[in-house]
Amino acid sequence: MRLLVYRPDGNIAPWADDFARCLPQAQCVAWSEGARLPPCDYAVVWAPPEAMLRELAEVKAIFLMGAGADAIMKHAGTLPAHVPIVRLGDAGMGVQMGEYVAHAVLRYFRRFDHYVDQAAAGEWKPLATHERESFSVGVMGAGALGRRVLDCLRPFGFPLQAWSRSAKEIDGVRSFAGDDGLDAFLRGTRVVVCMLPLTDATANILNRTNLAKLPRGAYVINVARGAHVAEPDLLAAIQSGHIAGATLDVFRNEPLPRQHPFWDEPRITITPHIAALTLRDESVRQIAGKIGQLERGEPVADVINRELGY
Ligand code: NDP
Repeated sequence: MRLLVYRPDGNIAPWADDFARCLPQAQCVAWSEGARLPPCDYAVVWAPPEAMLRELAEVKAIFLMGAGADAIMKHAGTLPAHVPIVRLGDAGMGVQMGEYVAHAVLRYFRRFDHYVDQAAAGEWKPLATHERESFSVGVMGAGALGRRVLDCLRPFGFPLQAWSRSAKEIDGVRSFAGDDGLDAFLRGTRVVVCMLPLTDATANILNRTNLAKLPRGAYVINVARGAHVAEPDLLAAIQSGHIAGATLDVFRNEPLPRQHPFWDEPRITITPHIAALTLRDESVRQIAGKIGQLERGEPVADVINRELGY
């Protein structure tokens, strides 16, 4: 069995080592533009270039090294239609997302950002607290990772809500669905957490119009993709005082350019796309398991729906 392994940074050796342990019958090969690719059974890729996808018409499946499919779906026209694209399902990312979002929510709720500033200024001053009962947290996207985040937030007792394409029944969570449910979801959300996949339907969803529907003093957390946020609109909403601040892990251009105005806005907390890192061990184990299922003719989970784009 031959696996094509591709990452934009070219560092495939650790992946090949892990596959050698988990799937000893597999030989891993690299791709380079212009060089002849030997016939491969499967591809395991992240952010593949279009030229590479043209050579994958014969593989049995393309596995992604991450949860988001946007980087491959932007080449949807080139992708061989019959080849399943399989994303990672959690693979250790859910717990990381839970940590990140819970930290950002609690930091805002308990005003730790202010206490850090006060401590730096040698100031001892207890601040008024937020009211838990009205501190609603709304997660956009109730998928594999969104649900893990809701699970992590549940013990704190905030009113929880989720917005997704189809309605959900999740313990202790008020569900809103589809375009019709978006307004009511936003109007009742104090902290909005974006955990949507990036598709034509969700790009720019946190724009001026939708940010204005959040209550005054709302807080924005984006751990999905930079293009979900209309960046100038968010900055204007923060500077006007309508939005209290934001914690952003993802940006339209990454690394975030040094001259980007977000760096100079103290109410925006920036992290370098680390909310949930791909854990190679767990990912390789999961992909090897799914290859086994496909080889036995069994169905696999986490196949991208080409029509929906996620
Ligand atoms: P899933 O595909 O499992 O879930 C997506 C959720 O979004 C589903 O609940 C889906 O609804 C909902 N959704 C999709 N389209 C719409 C729409 N048009 N309107 C309303 N709801 C919609 O994704 P994951 O939870 O696994 O991951 C979410 C995203 O997190 C990834 O796509 C990726 O972009 C990002 N990510 C970021 C990382 C980071 O480090 N910052 C790391 C890993 C992932 P339904 O349930 O009805 O289908």
